[in-house]
Amino acid sequence: MKELKTLLRIVSMFAVGFMFYQTADAQSRADRDLINQAVRITKDNFSFAGQTPKGARVFAVNQPNASMLNAIDKGLADLFAVAQKNNYRNRLSYPDYTIFIARADRTTNSDKNYSPDIAVGSAQYAGSVYDQGGFVYAAGMVLAYNPCAFVFAEHTKDFQRVSEIVRYEGEHLVLYHNDRQLYKKTADHSQGGGHPILK
Ligand SMILES: [Zn+2]
Repeated sequence: MKELKTLLRIVSMFAVGFMFYQTADAQSRADRDLINQAVRITKDNFSFAGQTPKGARVFAVNQPNASMLNAIDKGLADLFAVAQKNNYRNRLSYPDYTIFIARADRTTNSDKNYSPDIAVGSAQYAGSVYDQGGFVYAAGMVLAYNPCAFVFAEHTKDFQRVSEIVRYEGEHLVLYHNDRQLYKKTADHSQGGGHPILK
């Protein structure tokens, strides 16, 4: 009887150990998929992994400073507030979001204003006013819906713009998980319409 108890304890220890291993493995596989997707789109390497003070997950080309991390939290706070106003319930907590900070492919726009943007394949924007010849400059871009992830460029100033990008990219994700019809109508900006979508 004593031996059986010992055996059971050993078995359950293994079971717990195995469960942890499974969870950690599944987690890292999801992260790997996400990182591969971000690398494919931006051609950047994301060597920094961390989180904002409120718990949003961050992968970045360089370690982001406090202003950057706080601007992300501010953008998510604004997003959650407007989502709650619309009675949405899903994906309204900081850890639901994984945010990639890529290298800026330009830092000024055609009007010579500070505008760190990423260059992404034009796809649905081909031939439109946004098309730069195979790519478009974007302030931000959704990477995945499960988990919620998007990417935007490094900023050294104008962190208000970061908060806006976070709120605006986040709108697509919140709509996807709370109002699929409005999501479909607003997902593709080449058909007209911009941000903010939610008021
Ligand atoms: Zn958008």
